[in-house]
Amino acid sequence: MSTKGWSASVIEVNLAAIRHNFKLVRRCVGRKGILAVVKANAYGHGNIEVARCLTKMGVAMLGVAYLEEGLALREAGIEGPILIMTGVSADQIPEVVQYRLTPVLFDRTLLTALNRYARRYKKRVDIHIKIDTGMGRLGLATEDALDFVQKAADLEGIHVEGILTHFADADLADLSFAERQLGKMKGVWEHLRREGIRIPYCHIANSAAIMHYHASPFNLVRPGLMLYGYSPLQGEATLPLHPAMQLKTRVISIKKVSAGVSISYGRTFVTKRESLIATLSLGYADGYPRLLSNRGVMIAKGRRVPVVGRVCMDMTMIDATEVSDLAAGEWVTVIGSEGKESVWADELARWTDTISYEILCGISDRIPRVYLHAMD
Ligand SMILES: *Cc1c(COP(=O)(O)O)cnc(C)c1O
Repeated sequence: MSTKGWSASVIEVNLAAIRHNFKLVRRCVGRKGILAVVKANAYGHGNIEVARCLTKMGVAMLGVAYLEEGLALREAGIEGPILIMTGVSADQIPEVVQYRLTPVLFDRTLLTALNRYARRYKKRVDIHIKIDTGMGRLGLATEDALDFVQKAADLEGIHVEGILTHFADADLADLSFAERQLGKMKGVWEHLRREGIRIPYCHIANSAAIMHYHASPFNLVRPGLMLYGYSPLQGEATLPLHPAMQLKTRVISIKKVSAGVSISYGRTFVTKRESLIATLSLGYADGYPRLLSNRGVMIAKGRRVPVVGRVCMDMTMIDATEVSDLAAGEWVTVIGSEGKESVWADELARWTDTISYEILCGISDRIPRVYLHAMD
């Protein structure tokens, strides 16, 4: 979609905020490597631009969920290491090798197939081996990990560049389960060292762990959310992160209605007074949750105004009675700040009983992104 000319809604991505957040991660982790997570279109911020920005900041790797996301980065000319964090399937092996992508691996059949393919083309493929220390999702049981890593390390077509695991609840104040996971991973790492198996990277820490354990364990960290300016921790933010995304949309129409007029589908809102109702060109197809019907708040001309009636697929109504001189064509802030007021994705998340992650990566690709403060 074109980012030039008229658009109904716009996402402004402040790359200076992403650089600022990256520097905070850097300050937390010192000289450890940083694998910047740019899956899900960089949490809605736009994978290519964000990956370019972070690459210039000096990342050790980029992390994506799927092969296709890695291929998109390669096609955009991004050359550095890219970890495919949910793994790959057997039929994706040729692309993994051709595009020098680094798969997460936890399956013997796939390991054998990857080794065979790599040897046929006289290549050595980097892999990271996933260990399940308590997430109950991907990875080998810790009991099976040593044997698997040893076998993989002996294969000619394979280079075990890393081992990793994932925390289940490092965002909680009670870190006892996280400590158990950490202990298991340390056990595996130390055992490998004793066996003389040298693996460059061992990694576990997501944003929550980076923020909790400032001196992060192991030698590579995997921040996602915090790079985009949000804290995954409950309660007080412990770092001055800057949200990078602002979402603005235009007033399509504004009209004065008398008291007793119903607004939108289901007639769930009825005006109690003479009101100014503004119709905005943003709806749930754009990623503005329908759960924000009669619940959301936006900022119009520096004032917080309520969403009234149901959020529609492409439109949403606000009560702009308290706002003077709002006109059709003008911008309203949906996520962001204006003057003293702000509405951020974590607030939208609270109102809809979810997390900022889901709000951010739910913002639709049909809204053009513009990038501010790029550094060439
Ligand atoms: C998404 C993801 C991350 C990043 O998590 P945040 O909480 O956003 O920092 C790290 N590691 C893995 C394996 C992930 O899937």
